Amino acid sequence: MAADPTAISRPKPADFIPGYRLEKLVGKGGMGEVHQAVQLSLGRTVAVKLLSAELAQDESFVARFEKEGAALAALRHPNIVSIVDKGRNKETYYLVMEFVDGPSMREVMRSPLLDFGQALRMMMQICRAIEYAHGRGVIHRDLKPENILFDEQAGGIAKVTDFGLAGFDEKAGLKHNLTQTNVAMGTASYMAPEQQVDAKNADHRADVYSLGVLLYELLCGDVPMGNFDAPSVRKPQLDKRLDAIVARCLKTSPSERYQKVGEMIADLEPLVPAVSMVGTAQLSGIGRAMRRAREIARTIGRVAAAILVVSALAVLTASFMRTGAKEKKMPAGFELTTDFGSKFPVPQAGRIDKESHVITLGDGPDQISVVAMGRKAVTRAGDIVYGPPEDAPVGRTVVDVTADGEGLSLSAKVETQAVRRSSLEPLYEIFRGPRADARSALMLVGDTGRYVALIISGTGDDPRLEWALGPDHRGVMTTAMSLAPGSQNLELKIDPVTGALSAMVGKDRDQRLLGSVIALGPKWKELFGDAPHPALGCLEGTCAFHQVVLKGLKAPAPAPVVAQKDDEPEPAKRPVQVSQNTVRKPAPAPPPPQRPPVQAKNEKKGQPVKRR
Ligand code: ADP
Ligand code: MG
Repeated sequence: MAADPTAISRPKPADFIPGYRLEKLVGKGGMGEVHQAVQLSLGRTVAVKLLSAELAQDESFVARFEKEGAALAALRHPNIVSIVDKGRNKETYYLVMEFVDGPSMREVMRSPLLDFGQALRMMMQICRAIEYAHGRGVIHRDLKPENILFDEQAGGIAKVTDFGLAGFDEKAGLKHNLTQTNVAMGTASYMAPEQQVDAKNADHRADVYSLGVLLYELLCGDVPMGNFDAPSVRKPQLDKRLDAIVARCLKTSPSERYQKVGEMIADLEPLVPAVSMVGTAQLSGIGRAMRRAREIARTIGRVAAAILVVSALAVLTASFMRTGAKEKKMPAGFELTTDFGSKFPVPQAGRIDKESHVITLGDGPDQISVVAMGRKAVTRAGDIVYGPPEDAPVGRTVVDVTADGEGLSLSAKVETQAVRRSSLEPLYEIFRGPRADARSALMLVGDTGRYVALIISGTGDDPRLEWALGPDHRGVMTTAMSLAPGSQNLELKIDPVTGALSAMVGKDRDQRLLGSVIALGPKWKELFGDAPHPALGCLEGTCAFHQVVLKGLKAPAPAPVVAQKDDEPEPAKRPVQVSQNTVRKPAPAPPPPQRPPVQAKNEKKGQPVKRR
């Protein structure tokens, strides 16, 4: 693939698309960019979604993009973004849509002014949009707060966007003859279990599941995870009938869920509080919440920043257990954190800077204790190196330092290479089965076998983030990044204010966020069971880790406190580190502060076995 890896981030000239003038980049996602633009013939503002030039080389992405256009073209509903045009230029493909000027539901959700009545009204609008889409044979398959935008001009109504993963329900007569590819993308927290296992065969009831997650999050402030508490347990002022609605949407088996969104609407409708002035009151409520969301965003800063996605429960275990026979391989991070028995010290020089809380492996006056487990590692010129695997395929090196500070950053330059296959390979395969890919991992490990691992393959496969931090915080996430095989700069960062975990690939200006940010919460250290230690892992192949740096990140000085509606103190809003993966609006905010301590009850019993 003759891809230019920088193509996606290059600013587009205003006349990039004939007939339109691109004015401003408003969003960047997995497929490309969305620009605010002017449709020259009519002089009106529109949104132009461009498939990244890189992905435009890939048939399966082009097909997906076409499918998104076809899905939008099949739909006309006040709560669904409408399509204006589509086409292609020399470099790529584009869709033109109505421009939605307001914030996303993610931002609105953070507003302390959003009350339950408004939340339920928003939910009804989204349900109606999806009921309509299902009626037209379109399944959305990626319903999440980032994909719901609010149209301020139209008084704050919700618009469902991003049909990038949409599917067509063959039974409903609308066929779109395309190969199904890349549908495994999407955000795990919102995705129905059957969709995580086999996206192709998930039907419209997968959307019912996502609607249940949205409803729960709108009411409780976070996504349901593990044995979650019912909404009325979390928020006693809520009607108990909402518990049953949420529970029914979130049934593991699609046959136990609402079979039609209309049935869900029928249950939900009586619980939506009446508004005194029909229409206007409803809209102004949401409008106020949106303004509030915007004010908060302004406090935080004008820079574009990463969205905080409350995500988790992406089911390390669940998805691996469920796929069972299909997917025998254990998650790489799990293999890397098993108890290897063998341990040997790898003497390493380095520098511990107590002032700035920066610990660097390599050149320096300090002796840093590094222990290798499993496969043998050596230190070479300040690097930690795994040579070709002789017997043990898996090894982990733990650096015996911890970072001082409320947040941290661990970074390294990592080289991963597959080993050359010998003529004895067939013999090897008889005994051990085919070799797995060569992979390196940058990890943070707690003392209870809990970990976060950013895994990169030697073959240029997509990078992957795994996190296993107790029963309520586990997941895997991969993002198509089209990396060249070989050497990569990796970074794991935990924000000192919000406890948001981000995994990044690339360096400086080219650094890109893998998927979305994982909200671990300000008490993230407790999830590790102990201050996490930096660790490096190698599976198969050869792995070399250069410039390993651990930094403790201090929270900046507090800014004025913004009061919450129900008098609960809210932590001060401070600038959040900017990620390269810019999104639409400046609205990173800490996750709702008043959540009960993470995984209060099942924490103890569900604790993983000590594996370190
Ligand atoms: P992706 O598939 O990359 O997630 P989306 O369709 O969700 O693409 O668009 C990415 C971002 O662009 C959205 O989160 C939103 O901020 C912005 N965006 C998308 N569509 C519109 C639109 N019609 N009007 C205004 N902004 C939009
Ligand atoms: Mg999107």
